Amino acid sequence: MEPDLTGNELEYVTDCIRSNWISSKGPYVARFEEAFCDYLSAPRALTTSNGTTALTLALAALDLKPGDEVIVPDLTFAATANAVMHHGGVPVLVDVSETNWTLEASRIETALTPRTRGVIPVHLYGRPCDMEPIMDLARREGMFVVEDCAEALGAACRGRPVGRFGDVGCFSFFANKILTTGEGGMVVTDREDLAEKMAVLRDHGMDKSRRYWHEFMGYNFRMTSLQAAVGLAQMERLDQIQAARRRIHGLYVEALADLERLEIPAAPPWAEPVCWLFSLRFRGPAAGPTRDRVMASLAGAGIETRPFFHPLHRMPPYAAPPDRFPVSARLSDTGLSLPSGGRLSEADVGRVAGALKTALDEAGESGMATTR
Ligand SMILES: *Cc1c(COP(=O)(O)O)cnc(C)c1O
Repeated sequence: MEPDLTGNELEYVTDCIRSNWISSKGPYVARFEEAFCDYLSAPRALTTSNGTTALTLALAALDLKPGDEVIVPDLTFAATANAVMHHGGVPVLVDVSETNWTLEASRIETALTPRTRGVIPVHLYGRPCDMEPIMDLARREGMFVVEDCAEALGAACRGRPVGRFGDVGCFSFFANKILTTGEGGMVVTDREDLAEKMAVLRDHGMDKSRRYWHEFMGYNFRMTSLQAAVGLAQMERLDQIQAARRRIHGLYVEALADLERLEIPAAPPWAEPVCWLFSLRFRGPAAGPTRDRVMASLAGAGIETRPFFHPLHRMPPYAAPPDRFPVSARLSDTGLSLPSGGRLSEADVGRVAGALKTALDEAGESGMATTR
C-alpha cells in the first residue's frame, strides 16, 4: 500500500519550489488535469483537495438539498455517505452484491422513493459496478449519478472507464490509493454546466471575471501545484504502477489458489477491475473468527493487513436496521486485504502467502475445536 514516487515526482516538486509557484495558481494543476482528461478521454477534469471534497463538490454542483435522498452502498468508506450528509442530504443505504461487493441496479430500484435525487455507486476495492443497468435506471427515474472511483482509477465496464458513466466521477489521491498526491482528488464530467459550476464552487463561489464577487456560497477545495506536480509525475507512470499491482495480484492468486477457505472472486465478464488492495474473503464455518485470528497472527509476523470496512449501518451516524444488509455484514466480517503495493517483491508475496497458510491451518484447527 506504499506509494511509488520513483519517477519525476521529486523533479517536479523541486521545480515548484525553485519557481516559487506552490499554490493552486501554479502551472502543475492544469497540467495534471490535462493528463487526467487524456487518460480517461474526458472533456473536463478538475483537481480538488481530496476525494471527499470531490464528492462534496459534485453534490453541491448537482444542487443537493436538505432532505434529498441519495442511494449509497452500505459497504463503502464513510466519506461516501458523509459527503451527502454535509449537504443535509439523507444517505439511503442499500446492500451490495455477494459476488461483486458493489451496488446493483436491481437493489437500487428497491430503495427508490419520491425523495430520491441520485445514487453514488462505489467501485469498491478496484471492482467496477455494473454501470450500464445503473445508468438505464437513473435515466428512467431522473436520478443523478455520482461515481465514487476513489479505489478504482483505471477500472472499466465493457471497455469504458469508471468515472465516465455518471454525471460526475470522483477520484481520491490519498497516499494509499492507486495514484497519489499525498492528499488530493479529482472530479471528471462530460457536462460543461457542471464543470463550470464546480470550478466556481471549488474557488469560494467567486465569479471568474469579477474578483471578490461571490455569486454562490462556495468552498476552498483547491489542490496545490505541489500536489499536482506529484500527480503529473504519477500519471506519466500510471501504466507501470497498474502493471506492478497486477503482477502482485497474480502472484497472490497463484500462491493462494488451493486454499478452500479463501474466496478470491473472479471478475465478471463485463468487468475490468484494477488491483487496489489484494482483497479476499474467508468462507466456511466460523469464517469471521477465522479472519480475525489470521489477521492477528499475520500482525504477529509483522505483516500489516486491513479488514474490510465496517458496514455503514452499524455505525452511529448512519445506523439502520441490520436485517436489511446481510451481504455487506457478511463481507465486512469475513473480508481481508493483504499488503498490495506494487513495490512488493515476489519473495514478499511468498512470505505473506506462507504466513497466511500457516495462520489458516492454526485457526482452522482451533476453529474446529470450538465448533465440536
Ligand atoms: C478514500 C476514499 C474516499 C475519500 O477520499 P479522501 O481522499 O481520503 O478524502 C471516498 N470514497 C472511497 C470509497 C474511498 O476509498
